[in-house]
Amino acid sequence: MQYDLIVVGMGISGISAAIYAKNSGLNVLMLEKNTPGGLLNKINTINNYPGVGEITGPDLSYKLFQSVNDLQITYKIAEVENIILIENKKVVQTNIGDFEAKYVILATGRKNRNLGLKNEEQLIGHGISTCALCDGSLYKGKEIVVVGGGNSALEETLYLANIVKKVYLIHRRDAFRAEFSLIKKVEEKENIEILYNSTITSIKEENGKLKEVVINDKIHLEVEGLFTYIGYEANNFLKDLDIYNETNYIKVNENYETSIQGIYAVGDCIEKKIYQLITAANDGAVAGIHVSKEIKKN
Ligand SMILES: Cc1cc2nc3c(=O)[nH]c(=O)nc-3n(C[C@H](O)[C@H](O)[C@H](O)COP(=O)(O)OP(=O)(O)OC[C@H]3O[C@@H](n4cnc5c(N)ncnc54)[C@H](O)[C@@H]3O)c2cc1C
Repeated sequence: MQYDLIVVGMGISGISAAIYAKNSGLNVLMLEKNTPGGLLNKINTINNYPGVGEITGPDLSYKLFQSVNDLQITYKIAEVENIILIENKKVVQTNIGDFEAKYVILATGRKNRNLGLKNEEQLIGHGISTCALCDGSLYKGKEIVVVGGGNSALEETLYLANIVKKVYLIHRRDAFRAEFSLIKKVEEKENIEILYNSTITSIKEENGKLKEVVINDKIHLEVEGLFTYIGYEANNFLKDLDIYNETNYIKVNENYETSIQGIYAVGDCIEKKIYQLITAANDGAVAGIHVSKEIKKN
């Protein structure tokens, strides 16, 4: 059976794309290798997505999943491994078999580079975050740690310093890699303490929440928040397709089309400026509508 559209990834961007495509009458298949909702399942509290008030990531994820069910969008738990182009048909190869479609939307997200510490994964959303804009307000009046030494680490440190009581900024080298003006602002801010030549060697938890960060095996900082800005890892798993930039993000045009006809990409896996739920949902909606229009044209 050939689908009109296969959406790879059931995060908010993929689900938005599928909702618009399905509502336009397309025959849609969604493929997800893990949990529907994607990154949402790892977010503690969301307070900047319009219309839902303050909501937990899993609750918003569940609402999105309900839309998939309400609209009777077909989905399968399957990991996409490759996409083969045969004339104007796409064969999506997965660990459970091959699926065919005229169009494919990639909504596969990205990963935060992590510190490689033992209990790090479990504490994401419970003290560990990579999103100051999203989670900063949860630490109002508290002490936190930020790790990193580039522009984004310093920008986010300044943003957080205006909310929290104190920021310990941990950097593994003896100098930052950021712009001079940013470094100056960070150095001048009273509630930021910089620890150069420092590495987090372990983290401790209590009742499933972050409790302490240990630096260089000897400095113990009792903090409630740890923000890591040591970069993201985009995933160029479709090695045969020439759709990635030099940092493995997918390049798209204003309609979210990649350089390959019929293959689109949306959400955190693309090259863009703002990586948020609302921008991911927007990307998906625009791509879903564009695919629908293209199919109706032909
Ligand atoms: C800790 C944290 C807190 C955040 N808080 C907020 C917030 O409060 N507000 C806000 O607006 N934004 C927030 N963000 C950002 C926001 O979560 C993301 O921008 C958004 O969820 C991205 O959605 P997405 O659909 O592009 O990707 P994802 O949600 O990452 O979904 C991608 C999906 O693709 C699947 N996938 C990947 N590869 C394959 C494959 N090969 N085969 C099949 N499936 C695959 C994955 O399993 C995943 O389910 C936060 C981010 C983090 C990390």
